[in-house]
Amino acid sequence: MKKDIKSLTGQELKELIVSIGEPKYRSEQIYSFISKGIESIDQIPNIPKKLKDKLSEVAYISKAGIYQKLESQEDETKKYLIELDDGNIVETVLMKYKHGLSLCISTQVGCRMGCKFCASTIDGLVRNLTAGEILGQIITAQKDAGERISNIVIMGSGEPFDNMENLEKFFVLVHDEKGLNIGYRHITVSTCGLVPQIQRLAELEIPVNLAISLHQTSQDAREEIMPIGKSYSVEELIRAAKAYSEKTKRRVTYEYALIRGVNDNPQTAMQLAKLLRGSLSHVNIIPINEIKENDFKRPDMKKVKEFQNILIKNNIEATVRRELGRDIAGACGQLRRSIIDNKTEI
Ligand code: SAH
Repeated sequence: MKKDIKSLTGQELKELIVSIGEPKYRSEQIYSFISKGIESIDQIPNIPKKLKDKLSEVAYISKAGIYQKLESQEDETKKYLIELDDGNIVETVLMKYKHGLSLCISTQVGCRMGCKFCASTIDGLVRNLTAGEILGQIITAQKDAGERISNIVIMGSGEPFDNMENLEKFFVLVHDEKGLNIGYRHITVSTCGLVPQIQRLAELEIPVNLAISLHQTSQDAREEIMPIGKSYSVEELIRAAKAYSEKTKRRVTYEYALIRGVNDNPQTAMQLAKLLRGSLSHVNIIPINEIKENDFKRPDMKKVKEFQNILIKNNIEATVRRELGRDIAGACGQLRRSIIDNKTEI
């Protein structure tokens, strides 16, 4: 099977080049163009036609083409629908902050975790993205933006820890100084709570930031909105996350999507404060994004503030997520779904 050069490390590309009888230095030449967004072997400048032909027999470069791009009129958020080689589409969102550009990327087409409030999981999992396809979203968005992307959040569609092998490879690729050269501390990976993979990440000593999608504090209530809670309890999850922060000395973020009448009462805020007490942590409160496929509603801002204040009074750092790209359905899975709906309607 032909290899996708985007999924190869510099060393692996070198071995491939040598295996087709070409000099090693060619691999460095080729490698540097991959992260600039070259999308076919033919387009690589300054290498002989003969080498291109030989390389094309054993390798290719996967595309992450822009199927559609939406630009927010309210802020500078851009949403890309990225088309993969097999026609599948994933969402990638570019956000502009004072400290630079941040990109939210996907790791799977669809998702099988089944969280009740999430649009990405409605049709289940289609397939995992390869490491090159995860990386490709950054390459494409960076080329389009014409500016360096300095921060990555792995919070697009999919459960990254359900695609661990490719995720680990992606971490190596994205960090390569001859590639995109993004530091681990500028990467945040978000999980709905796969405990063994949290433990594995701690062992790998890849010091990325960890975000835990908690969204409920009591076991029964969490199971109701997040089926993964049946496999790993709230207690186990918090224990694993705390161990991660102790091992890595990194602050763990707990995402908490506030849903009216479900998880927004003061007692739950108190419970949350109790769970996190004494740990290096931060709560990111996200008023839920309402989607047409379910009836979950966001609380009013007064209630959101009240929830936040209870945490702060109990010495838990808590911020309310600033909403970006509201007018372009900036949040998870919403746009891809509307495209799928339209496609099926045709
Ligand atoms: N599977 C991973 C990463 C993708 S989801 C995870 O669960 O963490 C990124 C974040 O968006 C998660 O915290 C997820 O729970 C949250 N999310 C999903 N649907 C949402 C919605 N409708 N409104 C607000 N947040 C949502």
